[in-house]
Amino acid sequence: MNSFPTLFHLGGENCVTGSCHLLQVAGLNIFVDCGLAQGRDPLSDMSEWPVSPKKIDYLFLTHAHIDHIGRLPELIQNGFDGEIICSHPTKELLVPMLTDAMGFGGLGSREIKKMSDRIDDLSWGFECQQEFKLKKGVSFKLSRAGHILGSSFILFSLPVENGNYRIIFSGDLGNYNTPILPDPDVPDPCDLLILESTYGNRLHGGREDRLCQLEKKMLKALSDNGKVFIPAFALGRTQEILFELDRLFSKTKWREKKIPVFVDSPLALKITEIYSRLDQYWDAESKNLQATGDHPFDFNHLYSVARFRDHKTLLDIQGPAIIIAGSGMCTGGRIVGHLAQGLTEEKNNVFFVGYQAKGTQGYDIMKYRQRPGGYVWLNNDKTRIRAHIEMLSGYSAHADQQGLLDWVALMPEKPKRIKLVHGDPAAQKELRKKLINAGHNVD
Ligand SMILES: [Zn+2]
Repeated sequence: MNSFPTLFHLGGENCVTGSCHLLQVAGLNIFVDCGLAQGRDPLSDMSEWPVSPKKIDYLFLTHAHIDHIGRLPELIQNGFDGEIICSHPTKELLVPMLTDAMGFGGLGSREIKKMSDRIDDLSWGFECQQEFKLKKGVSFKLSRAGHILGSSFILFSLPVENGNYRIIFSGDLGNYNTPILPDPDVPDPCDLLILESTYGNRLHGGREDRLCQLEKKMLKALSDNGKVFIPAFALGRTQEILFELDRLFSKTKWREKKIPVFVDSPLALKITEIYSRLDQYWDAESKNLQATGDHPFDFNHLYSVARFRDHKTLLDIQGPAIIIAGSGMCTGGRIVGHLAQGLTEEKNNVFFVGYQAKGTQGYDIMKYRQRPGGYVWLNNDKTRIRAHIEMLSGYSAHADQQGLLDWVALMPEKPKRIKLVHGDPAAQKELRKKLINAGHNVD
């Protein structure tokens, strides 16, 4: 007789980073995600987990963002030897993302290579929308979540006394009509839904007219031959921005301007190359563009800046120019050098396309941009903010409150229970209220 499945939330239960869950069933230890916590979010000690990393049979990864995969090297150092299961694109993105993160973690290049090879050996890519069997009567199915390339939600079918118990882990859910990505799939019915709630209390807005907004703001920003800096995360956001710029430059009046666009980030370049190669996982819009001879996120005056030497040269380039670099919240990476030099000039511009968390340089730039004498600390220097700062809305990779409610409502029948994770308490409280109003049973 099989005992009932037990679930432990070892990270990301009431906060947005550090996603990590343990499912115990039929003597198996199944992990879903093993992410790094960021900012003030708590990080559990592996030695205090209910099971040792050595005893984990399977580690499922919903997608390749660091707050879902970042502790994998630590897990392996602590004896993990099980199978890593994810979608094909996640498998491709896993090693570049972790190799980059390990570089910042102080590991030497030989150790990084060894660890990357180990991760590659242990991990397996699977197709979406197909059911696969594991040991002890457990099976799983991955479905597309529309958050970044390869992002999936996972349905587990677990053997219990009177049949099967079905659990869905939503992972991070994306939006409909996101460039390059297929829309989120319709979820199957289930007994328990573990649902993310990052924007459980927010509505995004602005998605429909964002290209129009980008065009207007870009025109104004470049009219005085200034530079436009776009701080962007390497995975997901950079490719989305390149897609939008590609759309813009497909218009004759923009094409003729030949404004150079630089991607100044070795990681973003590597990820963009992977996105480009995995064209079978694109949505119909991108496939159609490619079929007409227009690569959806590559154009004539787009330049790669990989070497540090070239980054140094780029710092002194004259505008008009568009420079995309990480990190997305300006806490490090090559964007810092650009801002340290360019933020003090009035003709330059910064376009934020993502959330800026409190305590980051990006947050300070947003906050102090309009104050007389406003400044931000960059490279230990007080840098005056004279450049024009814009926040472009409509670029979130997460579904908002309505998006989450709509996705749950797509289920052919209501899930028997919903447990909210991956959100701040305020976001969870609001979303819980809305779900209960819609007739759901929420923990
Ligand atoms: Zn994510």
